[in-house]
Amino acid sequence: MNLKNANLAINGGKPIRKKPWPVHETIGKEEIAAAVKVLEGGRLSLFEGNYFAEEPFSFYGGPFVQKLEKKWAQYYGVKHAISVNSATSALYAATGALGIGPGDEVIVSPFTMSASAICVLIYNAIPIFADIEEDTFNLDPKSIEKRITERTKAIVIIHIMGHPADMDSIMSLAKKYNIAVIEDCAQAHGAIYKNKDVGTIGDIGVFSLNVNKTIQVGEGGVLTTNNDELALRLQLIRNHGEVVADQMNYENINNIIGYNYRMCEVEAAMAIEQLKKLKHYNEVRVELAGYLTEKLSQFDGIVTPFVSKGCTHVHYVYGMKFDSKKTGVSRDMFCQALCAEGIPVFQGYSKPLYLQQLYQKRVGYGGRGCPFNCQHYKKEISYKKGLCPTAERIYDEEFFGFEYIKAPNTLEDMQDVARGFNKIFSHIEELRRL
Ligand SMILES: *Cc1c(COP(=O)(O)O)cnc(C)c1O
Repeated sequence: MNLKNANLAINGGKPIRKKPWPVHETIGKEEIAAAVKVLEGGRLSLFEGNYFAEEPFSFYGGPFVQKLEKKWAQYYGVKHAISVNSATSALYAATGALGIGPGDEVIVSPFTMSASAICVLIYNAIPIFADIEEDTFNLDPKSIEKRITERTKAIVIIHIMGHPADMDSIMSLAKKYNIAVIEDCAQAHGAIYKNKDVGTIGDIGVFSLNVNKTIQVGEGGVLTTNNDELALRLQLIRNHGEVVADQMNYENINNIIGYNYRMCEVEAAMAIEQLKKLKHYNEVRVELAGYLTEKLSQFDGIVTPFVSKGCTHVHYVYGMKFDSKKTGVSRDMFCQALCAEGIPVFQGYSKPLYLQQLYQKRVGYGGRGCPFNCQHYKKEISYKKGLCPTAERIYDEEFFGFEYIKAPNTLEDMQDVARGFNKIFSHIEELRRL
């Protein structure tokens, strides 16, 4: 390498940007005031695992928890919103509420955060991975249909990176085969599918309020449903259901073994304020993503995020694909070069989940292969490499993402991103020689 003539930062040239990328700090004076109000009142949680709890304690939680749930349900136009302490807990509760258990199969994407599939194992059922779509990275309905068997009880849909999944096709499969649908909207608060909010189309919607999500309170989650029975079951699982079921004479106790998934009052009070800001935060993301797409789509070899007709993509991640044949460099080399320029991109996103040790070695609970070798299942399960070729190829070779398309970043920050791409494409020969 002739470093004398180096332009690219990866070769010792001057980077495009040295300024750090600001952290997504969504907490403002409204959240602080809301939290202080709770702290001053001194009641940090008013949940009790008791149907006959005495005021101010309640099986349904304290005033801020209940107010958040009311506001969330109104915002989404659903009958019930149920708060929990994370979206992971929400996914577990949703799987439990649907009555899923040993011997059942649940179809899930391999290209997602691990909890989207773990919720199935928690109830001793078997996650079955279907492949993803080439352009949206969401579950492909054609692949889902191929994986459906007489054991399939549910599909966990993830609206990955903020782009809605193909819900019309998925809901028609669900109807045809009598399968429940959980929507994991942890990355997609406010994403719209044909005039409907994601999280209101399937049987249960799951939202995250984790510190990294579009709106956040540190840790937290919310479930949505229009089904009264499911809402009650979610509340029971959240809060020591085995006790309360007896008190209520509730007899459908399959999976009602309870947890403590309860949200605290401080988080609930802050979440009420965060919800008011969701629209604003999404508008920022859509604006910044729009700018990037305009600038980056001109580069041959970069595929900017696809947006399906009738959908609003909320760009939790700005997810792109890289074509190494067209550019003559590998994706990983390209990403390293961009990072060296001060443009922090990441490659791959999620290793297809079935390639994790958990699935490869099938060690779940207790070291005897449970639940993969469950007596109620007794079926070959395939988690072989090659199971979901599109997800594997996109992870191995093509996908790369950028996550600073969010407040407080501005169009000026996006100009740096565009300059970084521009510089690398103008000196692509330098990279090819590396
Ligand atoms: C973040 C995330 C979760 C988990 O959310 P927590 O609130 O952190 O438990 C689940 N699914 C997806 C797709 C996520 O991105």
